[in-house]
Amino acid sequence: MLIVMKADATDAQVAHVCDVVTELGFKPHPMPGATRTAIGVTGNQGAVDPTRFETLPGVAEAIRVSKPYKLITLDLRPDKTIVRVGDATIGGDELAIIAGPCAIESRAQAFAVAEGVRRSGARFFRGGAYKPRTSPYAFQGLGEEGLKILAEVREAYGLKIVTEALDESGVDLVEKYADMIQIGARNMQNFTLLRRAGKSRLPVLLKRGLSATLDEWLLAAEYIMSEGNYQIVMCERGIRTFAQHTRNTLDLSAIPAVRRISHLPVIVDPSHGTGKNYMVTPLARAGVAVGADGLIIEVHDRPDHALCDGAQALTLAQYEQLVTEVRAIHEVLAPTPVG
Ligand code: PEP
Ligand code: MN
Repeated sequence: MLIVMKADATDAQVAHVCDVVTELGFKPHPMPGATRTAIGVTGNQGAVDPTRFETLPGVAEAIRVSKPYKLITLDLRPDKTIVRVGDATIGGDELAIIAGPCAIESRAQAFAVAEGVRRSGARFFRGGAYKPRTSPYAFQGLGEEGLKILAEVREAYGLKIVTEALDESGVDLVEKYADMIQIGARNMQNFTLLRRAGKSRLPVLLKRGLSATLDEWLLAAEYIMSEGNYQIVMCERGIRTFAQHTRNTLDLSAIPAVRRISHLPVIVDPSHGTGKNYMVTPLARAGVAVGADGLIIEVHDRPDHALCDGAQALTLAQYEQLVTEVRAIHEVLAPTPVG
């Protein structure tokens, strides 16, 4: 159910509708927009009678939602969501750049990379403290020690920290040290983790699962939103196909596809999307050209010594060049008004 309020509905009328929804045992999700507020209703297993709401003061109409997702859609919120991380944004006019190493390996490594990331003008620093590795014998990350280094980077450079939580207790720790929770491709359908992230005050970067359809990915975002966290950024990071020339196949068609259905910002990860250093910049350019709100890029001060994903890591010089190129493309797409 979607309840659309009249353009001139008062805050008190919106609050009253939310109370009625709650009294019926459902959960209201009010979404203020530029022209009107809509209230998504979740928690109902079957259909709800729209007439129950249509007579309430300030309500324009109540619409049954037949699609599987109710909250992530443009029907609920026609304006694009701008995810705010302190004073930095994703989904606004600025191209968001999240850059850093795959894994935090040491304080010296993190600071060397962060220095370059800060210099590029990017607002976000990435780096895994907990790594979801295919092999149990591969480097698993520094754990809480890595999070402490990330917190130091935040302090020293003013960068917003994006880092992965592998499980629910990981979310508690990320909340303590970082600014944005990354949910990795392998965890996209970890429903208890999604629900926990939905209860967090931090925004969530939701990567697309390795074999996830568009609907499955959007429904994963719906899980988070249904718990009350509306600050979600979708991230296309490549999917498994028969292609052998890349680590994954970066599905850039997902960007306009998400945009057509959802108000959530969507970014591109050309690092995991290709797995190859020489492909990262061309695919980053393509990602911005296709309309992504930002990029997440793996950078290392010494890629040949990286403990994780070295083959796809850019050097600091390559990264700097990438930023110059993608900014130029973004400017052409969204020229700032003159005068
Ligand atoms: C990562 O960002 O380093 C990572 C593990 O990503 P993904 O979940 O997309 O594989
Ligand atoms: Mn990685």
